[in-house]
Amino acid sequence: MSVVATPVHVGQPRAVERVVRGQPTSDGAGVRLTRVLTQPLQRRLDPFLMLDAFGSDAAGDYIGGFPDHPHRGFETVTIMLAGRMRHRDSVGNVGLLEPGSVQWMTAGRGIVHSEMPEQQEGRMAGFQLWVNLAAKDKMTAPQYRDIAPADVPEIELDGGARMRVIAGETHGVRGAVQRPTTEPLVLDIALPAGVRLDVPLPSSHNAFAFVYDGSLDVGGDIATRVECERMAILANGAGADGARLAAAAGPARVLLVAGRPLREPIAQYGPFVMNTTEELQAAFADYQRGVLAT
Ligand code: FE
Repeated sequence: MSVVATPVHVGQPRAVERVVRGQPTSDGAGVRLTRVLTQPLQRRLDPFLMLDAFGSDAAGDYIGGFPDHPHRGFETVTIMLAGRMRHRDSVGNVGLLEPGSVQWMTAGRGIVHSEMPEQQEGRMAGFQLWVNLAAKDKMTAPQYRDIAPADVPEIELDGGARMRVIAGETHGVRGAVQRPTTEPLVLDIALPAGVRLDVPLPSSHNAFAFVYDGSLDVGGDIATRVECERMAILANGAGADGARLAAAAGPARVLLVAGRPLREPIAQYGPFVMNTTEELQAAFADYQRGVLAT
């Protein structure tokens, strides 16, 4: 579904505080990826805990997939651009991750899942974003939503800017997912060459933009050029009322993400994110006893 919306003007666009280049790494059974939002940035980008970008035409980079592994205490959002993966979890959900689809998994008190390629060759590309849960919600029941490409609302603006509203609300359009407390806004944006887009954001929300095709000028009068595969952390200036993105040097695609910070202690041990070390130890013990898979 695609809706035509009226452009919104941001009076005081956020400046770019810092541009981050991701770190090449591997996860699961040897899947090569770029970790863009790393652990040292978790406080700055609270409530977001991690952003991985993956993209390869070489089967050897992804064929091992992500065999069974646990999570507790947060939500995972998988955004597929190319390729197919099969999701299976201990709650009994089965889903196909296909181009344009989004999977929103609330691990809550615990889930064990796998994501395995359903192709032997060809391109596999997308993102995984981790969104923290508030202390009061960490032990909630696990949930999984498989959102088909057609169920992600798309906004079209004059000039040809397009936004897929994965979560939150913008330009009067509600996204596929609404989450209380962290109020995440997740937009997958495509801008033709020469087109500028304003997106209102609450000044208290932490926000970043990850450019994954082309390059973008981000900010107001003094904009910062953000090259492909770089994440711009957007400053929370008092009075700043949104983001301004301009595709000055050709068409560009960008993931724009913002959310309300939780301001709670973050304790992470691999796939568990809690508030204290004791809670992490309990998560690990529960996993070993098989409690997370029930
Ligand atoms: Fe996982």
